[in-house]
Amino acid sequence: MPLDPKRTVAELRELQELTGNADGAQRVAWTETWVEAQDWMASKLGGIAMEFDEARNQWWTVPGESERTLVIGGHLDSVPNGGWLDGALNVVAGSEVLRRIAEQGTPPVTVRLVSWADEEGARFGRSLFGSSAAAGSMADQDELRERKDADGTSLPDAISAHGVDLDRATDARSELENAAAYLELHIEQGPVLEGMDLPLGVVLGTFGVERHQITFRGQAAHAGSTPMDQRRDALAAAGLLALEIYDIAERGEGVCTMGSVVTKPGIVTSVVETAECLLDQRNLDADKLASMLEAAKSAASKFAEERNVEVEWERVWNIEPILFDNELIELADESIREVAGTSHRLPSGPLHDAAEVSRAGIPTVMVFVQSLRGLSHTKLEDTKEAHLELSVQALDRLADRTVEWIASR
Ligand SMILES: [Zn+2]
Repeated sequence: MPLDPKRTVAELRELQELTGNADGAQRVAWTETWVEAQDWMASKLGGIAMEFDEARNQWWTVPGESERTLVIGGHLDSVPNGGWLDGALNVVAGSEVLRRIAEQGTPPVTVRLVSWADEEGARFGRSLFGSSAAAGSMADQDELRERKDADGTSLPDAISAHGVDLDRATDARSELENAAAYLELHIEQGPVLEGMDLPLGVVLGTFGVERHQITFRGQAAHAGSTPMDQRRDALAAAGLLALEIYDIAERGEGVCTMGSVVTKPGIVTSVVETAECLLDQRNLDADKLASMLEAAKSAASKFAEERNVEVEWERVWNIEPILFDNELIELADESIREVAGTSHRLPSGPLHDAAEVSRAGIPTVMVFVQSLRGLSHTKLEDTKEAHLELSVQALDRLADRTVEWIASR
């Protein structure tokens, strides 16, 4: 049977019907609805060998002439009240490609489809569970042991109800031993492709992130009796920085967000004594990310001095940019141009399972399909059916090219 992209769209609608409600998709990892989605996917790939690994990643395998393996991946779990495409598109489109390859006989290299466990981290606040276990980058097992969901159920208890032993989850590493390339199709979850009127794009990598808490400290003083030129107003310095980051982002060709400012004492009759700001900076280029951080630090010091307040920085979290494989980026570009005429290269703001696989040293690339209105993690998330069909075709062409690429190396 040839590739049938319309079937992918129909199956995605079927999955939405089965595991969603009026508020959206409800396939939260480590719940019965998630298991229902996994069983449903297994029923669609009846003839192909399926297994779960130690982290409950779900694998289908079409053995090839060589053990070297092309892996296509996505995730069936969703956030609560999520969209019908985030994650599921990659798995269902991947199943269409896998079926097509299996029906053509033994491929030159092994081809596997994986549905990663708990990409979203919706229940326990820890994203990329399954892919980090398989990639060997799950370094926080002790911390995970302490995690609880909103009902007080611990993470180890919740996952053991699904047959996963936290201490053994990283044994999933063996699954990627023969992996020679990794492909992931995903909705963009942003407005770039729609703005350019393009259905598909190649992802260059995922942004590096620097996240800091910046605390400006001045002096609380009476709002009535303190002259304007004698104030040590922490919010005045914070406000200048909140505007300056627009220039910093533009110069660094990245993005900066001051997502939170908490002021104390936080009453209308006092000058602000402390302003605690959270700053998130992202860039695909490690050097530019470092310069953006330096620029923010020197601007903060300058504004603090101008306003006669003190400033302190504390790193909350950071991650390096993860760049995808140049040769696979070329192959993805060719595949997209073949089915859609034009391609575009763009970075990914969100992290994806592909970032974990890439960090493990496996050549990786992602393809994005346009998201309508750039919306995701809501039931309003949507993509035109014609674009979804093109994305399945592009993934299919890319899979063929990558099989050849692996075989020729
Ligand atoms: Zn996703």
